[in-house]
Amino acid sequence: MRKVLVSACLLGSRVRFDGRAKEVSDDTVERWRAEGRIVRHCPEIAGGLPVPRPPAEIEPGAGAADVLAGRARILTPDGRDVTGHFVDGARAALATARSTGAEVAVLKESSPSCGLRQIYDGTFSGTKVPGSGVTAHLLTEHGIAVFTEDELAEADARLRAGEREDAGGRACGDGP
Ligand code: SF4
Repeated sequence: MRKVLVSACLLGSRVRFDGRAKEVSDDTVERWRAEGRIVRHCPEIAGGLPVPRPPAEIEPGAGAADVLAGRARILTPDGRDVTGHFVDGARAALATARSTGAEVAVLKESSPSCGLRQIYDGTFSGTKVPGSGVTAHLLTEHGIAVFTEDELAEADARLRAGEREDAGGRACGDGP
């Protein structure tokens, strides 16, 4: 059975910077739970950050690729550099995906770790800009199909397509 790596906060874990969760209540997630295919992961906790913790954003004008290449930082509002924790967390997420065989991920949108299509702009003004968090970027770079919490049907379709491929491969292998 194909696994799906899911942001822990979307599953009800109170691991966000403010000590809260952002649980999604959805039939698809419930079915994934029942099927035992969910791999729960929080990159920021894996990277050694505590709960609660200050918010953090990628520096203005920079993106996840810049952070992973060492050209930009992730900072708290008082200027503390927490880049290393975020990069460690992204690497831990990739290692977890690989060790569990998860080729699909559903990550929390807008986070400096998990955001896929938008992140905050680095000014702590609540302004969002197009871009990815460092974990979403790293997973995508390594061939993991990443979706947001608003794309559960698409993520499920990708899982099913993978399983059809698996079944086809087995059928071919079983043949003469
Ligand atoms: Fe949720 Fe990802 Fe932030 Fe962890 S790092 S709290 S999983 S959005």
